[in-house]
Amino acid sequence: MADGKLQESIATLKKAGVRITPQRHAVLDYLLNTMTHPTADDIYKALEEKFPNMSVATVYNNLRVLKEVGLVRELNYGDDSSRFDCNTSEHYHIICKKCEKIEDFNYPTLDEVEKLAAQVTGYDVTDHRMEVYGICKECQKAEKVAAN
Ligand SMILES: [Zn+2]
Ligand SMILES: [Zn+2]
Repeated sequence: MADGKLQESIATLKKAGVRITPQRHAVLDYLLNTMTHPTADDIYKALEEKFPNMSVATVYNNLRVLKEVGLVRELNYGDDSSRFDCNTSEHYHIICKKCEKIEDFNYPTLDEVEKLAAQVTGYDVTDHRMEVYGICKECQKAEKVAAN
C-alpha cells in the first residue's frame, strides 16, 4: 500500500517540477512508512546511516519542499519540534502523554463546529484542529510491568 502511495507522491513531485534526489526520496519513503508523525530530528536519525552526509537542515529543506507541494502536513505543537504527517486526508490525532507518540484516527469532520464558530465570531474560518490525549497501549503495558 505504501508503495503505491510512494509512486503517487513521486508523480506529484514530478508534476510540480520538483527534482527527486535520493535524500528527498528517502525522506518521503520514511514518512509514508511511519505512522508516528516524526520530527525532522527523528527522520534525520533514521536516515543518518544511509546518508552520512545529510544534515538536519537538508531534512528540513526536503520537508519544506514536500509541504509546499501538499504531500506533507506540518503539525506545530508550540515547541520547536514540529511533527510531520504524510496523511493529508482529513483526520484527527490522539497523543500519548507519556511517549508523545501521535496516532491518527478517523472521525467525521466537525463541520458544525466550524460553522458555529464562524457565526458566533464572524471569522472567515479556514480549518480546525482537535486533539485527544491519553496513554497509548504500549505505555499502559510498560506501566503494568513496572508496577509488578
Ligand atoms: Zn505512549
Ligand atoms: Zn496524522
